[in-house]
Amino acid sequence: MKSKGLVTVLSGFSGAGKGTIMKHLLEEYPDTYFLSISATTRTPRPGEQNGREYFFMSEADFENMIENNDLLEYAKFNGNYYGTPKDYVEEMLDEGKNVLLEIEVQGALQVKKIYPEALLLFVTPPSAEELKNRLVGRQTDDPDVILSRLSIAYDESHLMDKYDYLIVNSEIEDAVEEVHTIINAERYRTARRTEMIEKMQNELLQYKKGDK
Ligand code: 5GP
Repeated sequence: MKSKGLVTVLSGFSGAGKGTIMKHLLEEYPDTYFLSISATTRTPRPGEQNGREYFFMSEADFENMIENNDLLEYAKFNGNYYGTPKDYVEEMLDEGKNVLLEIEVQGALQVKKIYPEALLLFVTPPSAEELKNRLVGRQTDDPDVILSRLSIAYDESHLMDKYDYLIVNSEIEDAVEEVHTIINAERYRTARRTEMIEKMQNELLQYKKGDK
């Protein structure tokens, strides 16, 4: 019996390692997970490719997508638009696949409203100091940008308790397994298996009625 797919949202502070966790999940379980590629108005970073990391576009094109209702959710983050194209997510769910969204907190809460059964995971490093060290270690941002990311992280930390599960990313391999285990277990929740419950009830009813 084909069940409906599961939407999993992964959020976390900038520098928490959520992108790396996603990459490992997709590499280690390529038949299990399908990643939604977001649209954004920010400029590509060196090495990023249109259609792989993001669909990079102008503000006008993004606003067109908003107007046409092409986005499942969208948010402004650090002055740029980011949004999840609706079609891909719906297609994956109809095919019974697990679709992963790597999005920030405002968008995550919008997804939860649209799909109350969505699974929300939040990734954090073990400490604020470690978060700062990772941002400094990336060598991609100036000190003032790092401070601004830490300030955003402070604001985001007040929405952590809206998530279903919290992953502390100390060792990447452990974090990847934790996320995989949670998603796997979540699929067996009775609330997600109503079709199976109904099937058993219908079959048992036939015995009870003496039809079998
Ligand atoms: P970055 O510019 O570092 O790639 O992403 C900045 C933030 O935007 C990250 O927290 C990332 O998870 C989030 N983000 C990426 N795509 C989307 C999206 O489609 N919707 C929302 N709401 N946030 C997104």
